[in-house]
Amino acid sequence: MAKRSKQKHISTPEPDLWRAESLLLKLLKIAGPSCHEAEVAHFVTGELCRAGVPASAIETDQAHRRSRCRGDVGNLICRLPGTIRGPRRLFMAHMDTVPLCVGARPIKKGDYIVPADKHTALGADDRAGVAVVLSTVLEIIRQKLPHPPLTLFFSVQEELGLLGTNSAKFSALGKPRLAFNFDGGPCEQITMGATGGYRMTADVHGIASHAGCHPERGVSAITIASLAIAQLHHDGWLGNISKRSKTGTANVGVISGGDATNVVTPLVQIRTEARSHDPAFRKQIVAAIEKAFQDAATSVKNEDGRCGSVEFEGHLDYESFLLADDDPSLLACEAAVRDVGITPKRKISDGGLDANWMSVRLVPTVTMGAGQIEPHTVNERVDLREFRQVCRVALRLATGQH
Ligand SMILES: [Zn+2]
Repeated sequence: MAKRSKQKHISTPEPDLWRAESLLLKLLKIAGPSCHEAEVAHFVTGELCRAGVPASAIETDQAHRRSRCRGDVGNLICRLPGTIRGPRRLFMAHMDTVPLCVGARPIKKGDYIVPADKHTALGADDRAGVAVVLSTVLEIIRQKLPHPPLTLFFSVQEELGLLGTNSAKFSALGKPRLAFNFDGGPCEQITMGATGGYRMTADVHGIASHAGCHPERGVSAITIASLAIAQLHHDGWLGNISKRSKTGTANVGVISGGDATNVVTPLVQIRTEARSHDPAFRKQIVAAIEKAFQDAATSVKNEDGRCGSVEFEGHLDYESFLLADDDPSLLACEAAVRDVGITPKRKISDGGLDANWMSVRLVPTVTMGAGQIEPHTVNERVDLREFRQVCRVALRLATGQH
């Protein structure tokens, strides 16, 4: 396939990088935190329509209605027929940003785009990815470049735990055989796998009583939680976990409860997470956390022999995935990166990506950076040298050069 496509092109297509940069600046100016992506979707749709993409090729799904966080728009999907034969290729990026990006004013400083204000992030995570995908397709249309069937997928609510992709209308994506997600750091970094994560909330119930007059009648939820956490720490089930060659992580991230020193605390809420590339081991971590809290609850009793209790609620945030060494998207991506003079580096992530649900539910998806640096912080910036390289890589991939 690669050979045949190559023969069709007289020369390798190159994007107009000035256009790509100005598109990126426009995208960075739009506020669009998770659940408020409508304006971003509107902008992308406008650009596609202005380039001549028929409105019938563009749709938004209902992911925001299915997601527990709601939101003002679903994922934006655009399907274009190919002008050359070949398997359908999907290009994606997420439209939302973290709240710290709201109000960002992007300015260009040498080879970087930075926020003008020191109190905001930039939103390059992941508007740089959106700019790569959108400018690639606009270039293809503008230069009338031959291309295989293409699907563009702009997801919502990624920053809330991949909610948009988790609830996507996969049937609208047109059965792609290759898929490329643009979300991350430098051009060379190619993510081929990521961990899976489970989040849970534990409501620890004790029994209230006057802490001075009748402490013996109470069961302290704080004592129960403390015992459970101390046990987990002692047994090696918090932080980096390693048990018989299996590895994972767990964290107690939030603890809240109690409102007076003179009351034996009746309720504490704990929020925890467990991650592992190995789904079975992740379940083991979750089971260990649950057992520690149950054991602690039954061990703390009042004078009547009544003990506390724990209720758990949890959900799988994202399932882990790992692409095969010879996965076609991975190989195509690496070849395109080499073609622009960069040595690709494979990476397996300990965080979740939209590629998790894509790979588990639809098609193995490779993720590459778009020049974002220090996302989710006030130091966030775009390295335009990286961004330009990724634009060149994306155009090669979208025209089926690799
Ligand atoms: Zn991101």
